[in-house]
Formats: sequence, structure tokens, C-alpha cells
Amino acid sequence: MTLSISSDFDGGNIRVIAVEGDRADLEIVPDHMSDFYQWFYFRVSGAGGRDLTLRILNAGGAAYPGGWPDYRARVSHDDETWRQADTGYADGVLTIRAKAEGDSLWLAYFAPYSSDRHAATVARIAAQPGVTHKVLGETLDGRPIDLITLGDGPKQVWLYARQHPGETMAEWWMEGAMEKLVDPDDATATALRQKATFHLVPNMNPDGAARGHLRTNAVGVNLNREWHAPTAEQSPEVKLVLAAMDATGVDFAMDVHGDEAIPAAFMAGFEGIPSWNDRQGGLYVKFRDTLAERTADFQTRLGYVVARPGQANLSMSTSQLAERFGAVSMTLEMPFKDNFGAPDPVQGWSPDRSKQLGRDCLDNLAAMIDEIG
Ligand code: ZN
Repeated sequence: MTLSISSDFDGGNIRVIAVEGDRADLEIVPDHMSDFYQWFYFRVSGAGGRDLTLRILNAGGAAYPGGWPDYRARVSHDDETWRQADTGYADGVLTIRAKAEGDSLWLAYFAPYSSDRHAATVARIAAQPGVTHKVLGETLDGRPIDLITLGDGPKQVWLYARQHPGETMAEWWMEGAMEKLVDPDDATATALRQKATFHLVPNMNPDGAARGHLRTNAVGVNLNREWHAPTAEQSPEVKLVLAAMDATGVDFAMDVHGDEAIPAAFMAGFEGIPSWNDRQGGLYVKFRDTLAERTADFQTRLGYVVARPGQANLSMSTSQLAERFGAVSMTLEMPFKDNFGAPDPVQGWSPDRSKQLGRDCLDNLAAMIDEIG
């Protein structure tokens, strides 16, 4: 039986070059109107009981080739539960080996977070007491930008995720954070809701997510380079969210991402903004360092090089919000690889760990919310 390979579903991405026996040669399709690619998600059918060899021939030209060494693709027998597969990278080709138990096997760069799951989660959270749901507006493909608001406190906390749609761990993080915030038995969440108003955008880039993009929206724009001057034509997602932020102000902000290369969760701040001051910067450092003390799934040793004074990139949300609002603002990065400091050989970095880090970040915020704003 010939293998049948499909990515014709929400978030799917693959191009079939050749199928021969138990082997398939494949390519990842670049984001529409962009050269970025690295996200893949597809189903192999007719695969029952076979030892498959799936080769991604254009891996070497991906956005972050440094993401492939020591990376393991995720596979699933039911499109729900994901584990790591035997994966190797050599000569620009990513080779995934996996045995299919049932007829179909799903493969992805990371556990997907579908548009259906997004809609169901938003509906479930919005139905809880004290929660409001608002559609800020529509994307270029006509999808809603969903905003969840809860809490009664004066401090304005904004949490937003998935500017880069292939970084699905970011929306898993949001799911964990939202579930905690609406849990009536969670005393920390109750205290946070008394002290702060939470504004949550679980998916900043629903078009890119549905299209199976790595990094950009429907017209190939990287939303996290638009925050200095978003436009309705290029980046309505950012324009809508920034207008809502202007209406509330922002005291604390977290932009949630995934990083292809670094095998650990880490933070990036707003060093180098024109209005930098040590109090605002010190609160960011305190949040980062206390989070690392709280959980083995976050650390401060590995991360990005920080900007020099005056060199911050104000087109990126974290620096823009720190400069614009004086906010304690930060970018959280989680790994596509495993956390090498606390590895899980079966799942690697996973939806469950992303959700737990969301809860840990809220516990960490609760410990210092009185100092913020
Ligand atoms: Zn990102």
C-alpha cells in the first residue's frame, strides 16, 4: 500500500516530493509572501505497522538551521498525544524515523494548537464568572482577534502569545495561565484578580496559525517587528491590540514565544530603551531571577545577547510597551528542543510543561504584584 501524506487541515504544512516504499521525501512550505519556514505538521496514512523514514530535504534552508541539531520531531497516533521521534540532522536534511501502530501517524514540529482548540478554550474560559470576551477586530483573512478580560484590580496586566504562529507552545502556556486565573479554588489567582485586571490575547496571529506558518501573518509580515507603527494593511493584529493597550495602559506585560535553537526556557527584556530606568529594569530582573528559583523549567544562564544602551528595537512589542507605558515588559521563550537541564526523553518540552510554566509565571507575578505599577 502506498503511503498517503496530507497537510490539508488547520495548521498543516508539508510538500511531498517523492514516496517510495516506507520512505518519503518532503519539503516544508515557506510562509505565504515570505521566505521563513520551519513549522511542519502532516499526516501519513496507509502506514500501519511500518517503519517509516521521513526526510525533510529543505531543512538546511529553514529560518533557524541551528534549531535542527539535537532536535526531535513530535509524532502522534491520535493527533492529540505527542511524543518525541528518532530524529537526525545531516547535510541539510532532517530525517525522522517512526513506526506507525494504527493506519495513520501525525508528525509536527511541536504539539499543534488548532483553531478549533483555540475557539473551544476561549468559549470555556469566557463562560466562567467574572470573565468577559471581546473580539477586538478581524485579521486580513477575516478571523477574530480574541481578548479575554478578568479581574477587578487597578494594575493592568497584559499577556499575549503566538505572534509567531508556529510557536504553539505559547498558546499552550496561555491555556495553563487562563485555567489558573479562573480557578475559584486557587487562592493565588483570587489575590491576583483583586489586585490586577488581566487582559489576555491567547493567539495574536490566527491567520498564520491556520495557514501553517512559522513566523508571519497572511501577508508575510512578522508581527513582532510592527509595534512602532502597525498598519491596517500589513499588521491589523498589532494595531488592534495596541489600541486596546493604549485604552487601558500597561503595568506588566508578557509576550510568549518559542525558540528554535536554545534548549531551555528563558526571558528577554527591554534593555536599551531610551527611557530605561533602574527601577523598571530591576523589576524585570527580579521577575526573571525569582522565576528561575521557582522552577527547574526556567533558567537565566542561556538566552539572547542584550541590547546596549539606546539600541533597543522598538518595533518589538516588549521594548515598545516598556518605552510607551513604562511597563515591566518581557518576552518569554520556551524550547522546541527539550529543556536539556531537566530532560524528558519521551515527550521533550511539551504542552503540559508549557501550561505549568504559565501557572508558575502567575505565582511568580503574585509574589511581586504589589511592587508593579
Ligand atoms: Zn517568536
